[in-house]
Amino acid sequence: MNSTLQHVVIGGSAAGVAAALSMRASGFQGRISIIDAGTDEPYERPPLSKTFEDLAAPRPIVPASSYAQHGIDLILGAQVVKLDEQHHRVVLDTGDDLLAAAVLLATGVSPRRLDIPGEDLGNILTLRDIHDARAMSQRLDAGGHLMIIGGGFIGLEAAAVARRRGLDVTVVEALPMPLAGVLGTELAQILQQMHTREGVRFLTGRTAARFHGGTEVEEVLLDDGTRWEASTVLVGCGVVPNDRLAGEAGVYTRAGVVTDAHGRTSSPWIWAAGDVSNYVSPYTGRRQRIEHWDVAQRHGTVVGANMAGLETVNTAVPYFWSDQYGKRLQMYGRRSAGDQLVMRPASSGEDFLAFWLREGRLVASAGLDRPRELRATKPLIERHALVSAVDLADPAVPVRRLGTA
Ligand SMILES: Cc1cc2nc3c(=O)[nH]c(=O)nc-3n(C[C@H](O)[C@H](O)[C@H](O)COP(=O)(O)OP(=O)(O)OC[C@H]3O[C@@H](n4cnc5c(N)ncnc54)[C@H](O)[C@@H]3O)c2cc1C
Repeated sequence: MNSTLQHVVIGGSAAGVAAALSMRASGFQGRISIIDAGTDEPYERPPLSKTFEDLAAPRPIVPASSYAQHGIDLILGAQVVKLDEQHHRVVLDTGDDLLAAAVLLATGVSPRRLDIPGEDLGNILTLRDIHDARAMSQRLDAGGHLMIIGGGFIGLEAAAVARRRGLDVTVVEALPMPLAGVLGTELAQILQQMHTREGVRFLTGRTAARFHGGTEVEEVLLDDGTRWEASTVLVGCGVVPNDRLAGEAGVYTRAGVVTDAHGRTSSPWIWAAGDVSNYVSPYTGRRQRIEHWDVAQRHGTVVGANMAGLETVNTAVPYFWSDQYGKRLQMYGRRSAGDQLVMRPASSGEDFLAFWLREGRLVASAGLDRPRELRATKPLIERHALVSAVDLADPAVPVRRLGTA
């Protein structure tokens, strides 16, 4: 191993870990170091909002032995505070620095603050890491009224758990309907109805204007002037990319670290992958920042391979899932306004299969508790198959038989 040639990965999560392993698998012989500000071995984030149980030890991304096995140094509890491009130095808050031949920014995102009075009161939480999940778990045990500001996936997953534990739950959403941007109004409506039936109160077209309380939150004032008593507030109003290091190093940032399809930034020394990176997806043809676990891992794998000298791009169909009330929502591909939605009737209860066609070709699919059929749509989306809307809507036509071109 050529130890003078070092690649430094900043961020030990989905993208960073996948990138480090991929660099090694792609033949990179030098040192690889992953630096993460957290003190836990890299762990999976998606389970953190699904049950709020079994949080003593988070689920590792790979077994602890994998790092040593692949010659990867894991430096935990250290924050990178500066990238010195001129001297190729990565400066840590511990006072140490590392010499790097190349740097990967896999720094992810942080919860967006509302920036309203009272936001720093106790029991106002966000949810990003294991500590946040443990804090939320304690608040679920405490009971009372949980107000969730922002009806995104994390907020709705927390709402589902809280309702099952008997808490009074209110979701405040600025848009007319939660999740409509991702899923479209028809599917968003089904999910909202599911939550309403479970007892979640929705206050849409509104947002929080101020929090009141002594040391802990007691009341939420909304922008429509109404006041709501609350024992816990979860703020889930989106995220901001952790691109400060890049910006300070003179790297071009715009809603994330701007990269090409290979992960290269405007600096030849610095690369970026995962939630922090804003890249043109070869799959969608659009510049975007995607915040899904599977996408971050695949993107990290591709960028790691490029850093090792290969030339490859992430062509995978974007995929995400979300668990609510014991049901799994999954989606492949990306829908856009104007795509034709085709629904296949439920096989039982409220499960669904939905498809989106663009000029007759399948571009996205989503399902509630229909994993096998949904998986069968992935290759069709990959090859932009021409599919008949009539066949899509017909439960008698097996999904694997769909697609003519
Ligand atoms: C609670 C929760 C539930 C989720 N559920 C799902 C789900 O069900 N399905 C799905 O598809 N996606 C889900 N996601 C999204 C998914 O987890 C993210 O897309 C994924 O974690 C992104 O990975 P990443 O490696 O790009 O960044 P991150 O996971 O954000 O990791 C970035 C890492 O960089 C470190 N870091 C940042 N700056 C520095 C610095 N200066 N120095 C050192 N370290 C630094 C941070 O400590 C962090 O560990 C969920 C996310 C959360 C928070």
